[in-house]
This record gives sequence, structure tokens and C-alpha cells, in this order.
Amino acid sequence: MFKRFSRFLDSRIVALGGFGIAFGAWIFDAYIDTAFFETDLAFIDSLLNPEGHEVWMRGFVAFLLIVLGFIAAALLKTHETAEELHDYNQALLERFARDLEHKNLALEHEIERRKEMERRLAEMATTDPLTGIYNRRKFDESLQDDIKHESRYKRGLSLIVLDIDHFKRINDQFGHDVGDRVLKRLAALVQQHAREADRFFRIGGEEFALLSCTDDGEALVDAAERLREVVQEHDFGIGQQVTISLGASRFLPGDNCGSLFKRTDEALYEAKGRGRNRVVLL
Ligand code: GH3
Ligand code: MG
Ligand code: MG
Repeated sequence: MFKRFSRFLDSRIVALGGFGIAFGAWIFDAYIDTAFFETDLAFIDSLLNPEGHEVWMRGFVAFLLIVLGFIAAALLKTHETAEELHDYNQALLERFARDLEHKNLALEHEIERRKEMERRLAEMATTDPLTGIYNRRKFDESLQDDIKHESRYKRGLSLIVLDIDHFKRINDQFGHDVGDRVLKRLAALVQQHAREADRFFRIGGEEFALLSCTDDGEALVDAAERLREVVQEHDFGIGQQVTISLGASRFLPGDNCGSLFKRTDEALYEAKGRGRNRVVLL
């Protein structure tokens, strides 16, 4: 409200207004003098040829009015400036707040993006790109962790290593791409038929490993046999059977990663030696 009003009270307008009021005061005083006090003096004479003290008085009143006008204008201007400054600061603050909000949002997105990237990197570091199951690095880590855990809590730990029989022949006969497809299908098949708590890894070209939480040798052989049968009976779409050999072993007191893996690998080697497509427990 003040702002709109003070716009009309711009100092030039105040000066003009002041002069107008002074002029009016001059005429008004001339009229008062001739009408009420100096009846012998004509209005026009009083207006144009006032006496000395009248000039001083009218001049002084005009001066006072102009000065008062300027003071009022200055006060209003100060108020207006303060209000404008307040509005400006308010707008600035609002802009800062908006900017900050945008930056916060952008930062939150960036954090999410980085978390997702980290998650994907971690996944890539532990996943085999062809089959989508855990890779050798994850196997080494898991075996180490499981053995530490087993040495302390003794809840049972077993390892199965399985290898496709004569896989080289499949590659040679049907090509590398078909070989890849067989690897993928086989990984999916074993994953699907392994027990829920088992963890399945691709640890070499056509070599896989299963970590199970069991110390029951019979159950371990049964599980390995079931996998062998599932693979043998599966139609891989190449017009011939695909078979696997499996070596299995339980964690024994005093075992470490090397000894457990070596024994299981020896079991696999024995399964190959005994004619393949079979399970050997050592
Ligand atoms: P064995 O029964 O004794 O295991 O015989 P094998 O032919 O399966 O074993 P060998 O070690 O002689 O050959 C393994 C083959 O696996 C050789 C290699 O070209 C193939 N191979 C390894 N990795 C991959 C892969 O990622 N894709 C394909 N298509 N073949 C692979
Ligand atoms: Mg093989
Ligand atoms: Mg092999």
C-alpha cells in the first residue's frame, strides 16, 4: 500500500506539489487579508504587491510546506526502500532454498546412481557372464568363509565338483556357440535341481562346483546322483546325450580350502577314470 502511495510522492512531484500549495497559500492569504483585515486594499493588489512582512510570511509558509513535503517523501522513500530490500532478500532466500532443494535432489539421485553402480560392479565381480551363476572368485571366497565357519560351528559342509564329459567333442562337432548354449542350459538345470541352501559356481570352462551345508555322505551322494541323472536325461537339443562326472567330499577335521578342494578334485578325476557319467565320494 505504502509502495503504491509513495510512487505518487516522487520528489519531483513533491516539489511541484509544494510549489502549487505555496502558490495556493499565497492566493489564500491575499484573500484572507483583503476580505477580513485590510479592507482598503484590493485583492489583486494584495496578491501582486504584498507588504514586506506579508512576503516574508507567505514565503516562509511556502518554504515550510515544501520542506514538510520533502521530509514526508523522504520518509516514504525510506520505507519503500526498506520494503523493497525486504522483498528482494525474501526472493533471494526463496531462490537459494529452491536451488538447494534442486541440488539436494540431484545429490540424492547421484548417490542412488552410485549405489546402483557399486551393486552392479560387485555383482559383475562375482558373476560368471555366460551362465549368470557365481564365478570362480566368489567360489574361492565362499569356500574360505564356509571352512572358517565350519571349523568353528561344525554344522556340516560338503563340496561337489562336476565336469562335462567330453565337452571338447561337443565344441568340435557343433561349434563353440552351441557349446556355450550347452553350458548355459546345464548351469540353469543344475541350479534348478540343487537344494535351496546349496550355492552353485562356475569354476572353470566346463567345470562347476556346489557347496552344501551337510556332513551326511549318503545324502551328498544322493544329491550328486540326482544331478547326474537330471543332466543325462535332459534334451540339450544337439541330438545326443550330455553327461557329467561328479566328485564329492565332506569337510573333515583339519581340512582347509586346499585339502578339501584337492580331495574333491581327486574324486572327480576318479569318476572320469572309472568311465565318466558317475559320482565318486572321497
Ligand atoms: P573330459 O571328459 O575329460 O572332461 O573331456 P573334455 O573334453 O570335457 O575336457 P577338456 O579339458 O579336454 O576340454 C574342455 C573343453 O571345454 C575345451 C575348451 O575349448 C572347452 N571350453 C572351455 N570353456 C568354454 C566356453 O566358455 N565355451 C565353450 N563353448 N567351450 C569351452
Ligand atoms: Mg570335461
Ligand atoms: Mg574340465
